[in-house]
Amino acid sequence: MNQPAAAPARSPVRTTPFPGLPPRFDGKEMEYLREALAQNSLFYNRPDGLVARMLKRACQTFNAPHAVATSSGTASLHVAVAASELPPGSEVITSPITDMGTCIAILYQNLVPVFADVDPETYNITAESIKAVMTERTRAVIAVHLTGAPCDMDPIVAFCKAKNLSLIEDCAQALGASYKGKSVGTLGRYGAYSLNDFKHLSCGDGGVVLAGNEADYLLAHNYADKFYDRAGKGVRLTKLGANYRMTELQGAVALAQFERLESIASKRNRLGDRLSSAISGIPGVIPYRVVPGAKSSYWFYMFRIDPAVLGVDRDEFSRRLNAEGIPAGGGYVAKPMCHEPVFLNKAFFPGGVWPAEKVAGKTYDYAKVRVPVCDTVLTTSIRMPLHEGMSEVDVDDAAKAIRLVAGDLARR
Ligand SMILES: *Cc1c(COP(=O)(O)O)cnc(C)c1O
Repeated sequence: MNQPAAAPARSPVRTTPFPGLPPRFDGKEMEYLREALAQNSLFYNRPDGLVARMLKRACQTFNAPHAVATSSGTASLHVAVAASELPPGSEVITSPITDMGTCIAILYQNLVPVFADVDPETYNITAESIKAVMTERTRAVIAVHLTGAPCDMDPIVAFCKAKNLSLIEDCAQALGASYKGKSVGTLGRYGAYSLNDFKHLSCGDGGVVLAGNEADYLLAHNYADKFYDRAGKGVRLTKLGANYRMTELQGAVALAQFERLESIASKRNRLGDRLSSAISGIPGVIPYRVVPGAKSSYWFYMFRIDPAVLGVDRDEFSRRLNAEGIPAGGGYVAKPMCHEPVFLNKAFFPGGVWPAEKVAGKTYDYAKVRVPVCDTVLTTSIRMPLHEGMSEVDVDDAAKAIRLVAGDLARR
């Protein structure tokens, strides 16, 4: 019989399938949905409505003074960027490893995305990498807490303060994560969350923006609801805002979901940290690193290999893990955001006109942007599922397989 190349001589580490996500919705969601429908109105702006109760719960969970509900994570980011009220043509520094939503928020405000390189073990931008791409046009930073692992925030907060930059946290992948005892999303001016169906909590689509003070909150509220000023003094339509409202239906589901966050995030944190320590010290294997004082909520688990040490690329390493019965595959995205076609061609608006660049009076060439560490991360990282439906046995099997595969390769 022909043996596939990657098949181990021994029997595979794991012969039973990995568990999928457990059921995410139950009677609680249904109860709140019924309450929403019984109101005879699904409009969000009611004092005891489901969106209001969800926001209250979110504020308690995050220990944040104010929150605004939105229709998506992208909407949350757009509201946060718009409410930072930056002059068109300003530069906003963010990560080249992120969801397009981060850049949509920048581009639709007629601002210019600038990409800072990432740390090789946290996969996040750092104060140093931000500093390296800062110019006299920089007005804001969007720190993306990729995979649920917080950026090293103290130096980033200090840098943004010193340079008077608006600091926005993209917490879409980091529900339940914290930095030095504070929830992510409360460390900068605004924190943007997503409740889309792939995130820790789902209400189908939705989002939350955290604000640290009343003035910032009112601005975000208005930018999320057409500047009808429903939360303020009734001074309407003073500025331009989109309609990013959440309905009571999403609010109902999101309220029930927030009640589960602590158990979801703590389970993921425990399993992810367990996996990292189990695969530390293996030659050629570079575990996921969480910065000191931070807690990751592990949206997924990502680690890297050093092909120079192991003599294979990450695709071969993944195939060998698969042969051991472990789900694993190539990292999070295929290329740095700055090298996606929309950036290479600056195809942001029809007709090849990019108003932000015109206003800036400066030409941007994303093909020339170099993010070498990001390139290394994206070509050497392996992604594995990690969620609350898994157990210690599952992560221990994954760790055992990584150790065996790396050991086999090192012996060749
Ligand atoms: C999911 C995600 C978004 C966008 O959220 P949507 O709800 O899909 O609009 C933005 N940034 C990051 C890092 C994300 O993972």
